[in-house]
Amino acid sequence: MNLFLIIILVILIGKYLLNIIIEHFNIKNLNPELPNEFKGYIDERKYKISQNYTRENSKFGLIRSTINIAIIIPFITFGGFNLFDRIVRNYNYSEIVTGIIYVFMLIFISQIIELPFSIYSTFIIEEKYGFNKTTIKTFISDIFKSLLLSIIIGVPILALILWFFSETGKLAPLYLWAVITLFQIFLTFIAPYIIMPLFNKFYPIEEGELKDAIENYTKKENFKMKGIFTMDGSKRSTKTNAFFTGFGKSRRIVFFDTLIKKNSIDEILTILAHEMGHYKLKHIFKTMIESILETGLVLLILSLFMNNRELFNAFRMDNLSIYASLIFFGFLYSPISILLSIVTNIFSRKYEFEADRYVLRSTKKGEAFVSALKKLSVDNLSNLTPHPLKVFILYSHPPVLERINAIKDNVVRSAN
Ligand SMILES: [Zn+2]
Repeated sequence: MNLFLIIILVILIGKYLLNIIIEHFNIKNLNPELPNEFKGYIDERKYKISQNYTRENSKFGLIRSTINIAIIIPFITFGGFNLFDRIVRNYNYSEIVTGIIYVFMLIFISQIIELPFSIYSTFIIEEKYGFNKTTIKTFISDIFKSLLLSIIIGVPILALILWFFSETGKLAPLYLWAVITLFQIFLTFIAPYIIMPLFNKFYPIEEGELKDAIENYTKKENFKMKGIFTMDGSKRSTKTNAFFTGFGKSRRIVFFDTLIKKNSIDEILTILAHEMGHYKLKHIFKTMIESILETGLVLLILSLFMNNRELFNAFRMDNLSIYASLIFFGFLYSPISILLSIVTNIFSRKYEFEADRYVLRSTKKGEAFVSALKKLSVDNLSNLTPHPLKVFILYSHPPVLERINAIKDNVVRSAN
């Protein structure tokens, strides 16, 4: 048997088993006893519901990954990738056009396989727990908009990758690294103006107490930004959130309308302070550097596996091509990607604690912040007791109880 095929099967099955183990421990770790910290914020009945929500999502995720692996392994071993390649090659387009059609055909097929899961998740699970506000119309138009967007953004990027690898030889990873990095930065600049308004409506926040409080606070902190917005998050879900978009002076803060409705002014201020903390402490910048470095690493390793005959044999391919190399490389890269994401998650969780401490330093509203965090996790039915293994591998944010404890420790320490 082909060595690459063995490696890829081990990776696919290994990832699948890891997922089962994580979810198993995570479910076992659900604590029927409501943590003291949350008494008064959530009643026993709602706490039970939140655990059922965790259980149901976990079971659903396992079914989803079982079906996926049951499709992908036969597709690889019976030469599905080659079958589609032969169909596309029949048209005798140039290598780049053939590559674009091939890659998008595979993306399209995987989206179709994914569709029933996404329908079930939105209209059955989220609906059952009272989160869903997405209408069928929004759901369908979201699909078409995302598809259109992935073509507008994906086609030029893919064409560039194929062109550089076929024309510039050994230096291709280097050129591409520069081009892709510039493109990423460009996208982050235009996203708030062009991409995000496709999916949501943004309204400047109303004049009044809240706006004044935010402006006073950002002025005091010497923090430049271009606007305070609310977003119609309630169009899709009752879940709440807040985030910054853009860079430098063109930054804007966006609150979900659901969040504004459910929190007091002080609580909203602490949420804003947390997000500001990420900028002030240079987390946004560091995360961007991490992602740029990873792009470089991916391109470098990718170039090592370009047009590798043995790798193509594993997928039963007749013809070598740059575009298929990209896809096959993805299978080999996934364990590295998991390891890297564990590392970035460790940093990300550290940044969260740092941003929380920033809130305390700059607002001195520890109590309001704790209350905002509690509301956030109650409103989103977050799992209050995730298993440490799941946290270590998958969580970009520390579990809410750890954050609350750290905040209380800090308040006590600074008072002494
Ligand atoms: Zn954060």
